[in-house]
Amino acid sequence: MTKLLLRGGTLVGEDGLVRADLRVSAGRIIELGPDLGDGSQDERSVDCEGLYVLPGLIDFHVHVDDRIGRYRLADSWSSASLAALPTGITTFLSFATQGRGSVDGAVEAMLDKAGGSCHCDHHVHFTPTSWDKKTWADVASLARAGFRTIKLYTTYKSAGLYVSYPRLEEILRRCADLDITALVHCEDEALLEEAAKGQTGADPADAHLHARLRPARAEIEAVERALEAARKSGARLHVVHVSTAQAAKMLCESAETKEVTFETCPQYLVLDESELRGRDGHRYLCSPPLRRREEAAGLRHLVAQGQVDVLATDHCAFSKEDKDAAAGVDIRKVPCGFAGIGALAALSRELFVDDFEGNLVQFVRMLSTNPARIAGLRHKGSLREGADADIVCVDPRGNASPVRSTLAGAHETYPGFTARWSVERVYLRGRLVVRRGALVDEQAARGEAVWRK
Ligand SMILES: [Zn+2]
Repeated sequence: MTKLLLRGGTLVGEDGLVRADLRVSAGRIIELGPDLGDGSQDERSVDCEGLYVLPGLIDFHVHVDDRIGRYRLADSWSSASLAALPTGITTFLSFATQGRGSVDGAVEAMLDKAGGSCHCDHHVHFTPTSWDKKTWADVASLARAGFRTIKLYTTYKSAGLYVSYPRLEEILRRCADLDITALVHCEDEALLEEAAKGQTGADPADAHLHARLRPARAEIEAVERALEAARKSGARLHVVHVSTAQAAKMLCESAETKEVTFETCPQYLVLDESELRGRDGHRYLCSPPLRRREEAAGLRHLVAQGQVDVLATDHCAFSKEDKDAAAGVDIRKVPCGFAGIGALAALSRELFVDDFEGNLVQFVRMLSTNPARIAGLRHKGSLREGADADIVCVDPRGNASPVRSTLAGAHETYPGFTARWSVERVYLRGRLVVRRGALVDEQAARGEAVWRK
């Protein structure tokens, strides 16, 4: 296999930007530094002058190839990866939820679906729905195999996902022993039930009803309780899709221990609940719901301050038909979630519209380094010797172009949005897979399951 030498780019490291060369061999980064030569005979030399060179981006929170309630998700591993890879996402993580069988059976089945079809490297977070001896034996063996993240919910009782706060604390205690990070969806079930009682008689066709049924205080309460459980148990806690500035601030303040992290998503930063009042309001139903404009501004402020650990999408796309079927009749029957993975990098870049270069380190932290660290992806997340050569070369001079969240026939979440996100090249474990924003060769872009290494 030929070596690769990327010359003269601006490398985005964990501590800052440095103009340097980068040498790749056998899919790994083997050398970094100034003037690593002109490339020898067995080496391909690529001029990266004027380009930013980033580690491959990671979408930490994606739903694909699964059923959610009555509906099949619109995206397969393949279609989601084809939307992601040209934007610089080289790895994404989806979910394996225990059904009637075992949790390790669910993980295996989910990774089997990805195998040979996903063009990005990939991994799963697992979600047990029963807590018997067999499940704990499975969780322990998954932990030994290198799975570092378990997903838990403080809501969705009817879907069988709910765990009470005492149960949460007990699970977190075991997670601490197993060195697993608990990803928690935080909305307080009791407050949601109370909110529903307050909305009896409301017009079920009104998409804004969804925001009133899942109020901000439900998230804030559940985050408070999850933090308490994490403190008592000593477990690592990562709160997913934080939608309110208050909950995010609570998590920032407790983050000094390094054991608490959180993510927010582009939809909570660039959209708000006014979308729910429009004619297509039902298309913007997600849980937690889009919040008031001030919440989005508060979260953007935290991003600007470098306080947000992870930006991820919670990509959860449904077909237009499924999303529209109950629109105008009963929004409680509309499947919750929408597309995002193809828009993650571009929308995140636009958050730093005034000074992208000055914020590149933070950008890479949120979209690569932190997700890799939390998920235990040892070979991902930064440009360093020994890491996988997942590399994104970005041209800062590129023009603005439309943002596209999905290729799967779901509604576009961000119509009319544009971004100056110009991806010149993407390498997946040293292999060139994207040139000028387009896939070089579908066959060449073969994703691998990260944990098998
Ligand atoms: Zn989700």
